[in-house]
Amino acid sequence: MGKLEKQINLIAQNKIDFDEGQNLIIKSLEFDFNVTFEILKNFILNSIPNKSNYFSDSYQKAIISIPLKQTFTPIIILNKFSVKDAFKRLSELSESEYEKIIISLLWIFKITDTERRQTECKNGCEHYWHNIK
Ligand SMILES: [Zn+2]
Repeated sequence: MGKLEKQINLIAQNKIDFDEGQNLIIKSLEFDFNVTFEILKNFILNSIPNKSNYFSDSYQKAIISIPLKQTFTPIIILNKFSVKDAFKRLSELSESEYEKIIISLLWIFKITDTERRQTECKNGCEHYWHNIK
């Protein structure tokens, strides 16, 4: 697991405060939108148990609780389109939206992964990234 993947998991597991964590990632000199976006996309898709259409209550709940204005373009897209369609549209937005996109996806993953850890993974699991220190 790379440094970025580890940071994202530590944020999702509340081992790094969310605001501190988002800054660690976005303000990093190594920040690369495309790389970060792809990792978060795959993490979110993996964390949603329903692989047929990725519909999940925790995903929907996560979107409406993103700590940004619900009127921001990335959040409107997330609310309006299905998971895969939304990700495609987000990847095509301009650079001025990058920070908002990453904060939104980090938040969604934190919620969907927490839900998974509290249900499916509750009695122990083989996900090595759920067992990081
Ligand atoms: Zn797990």
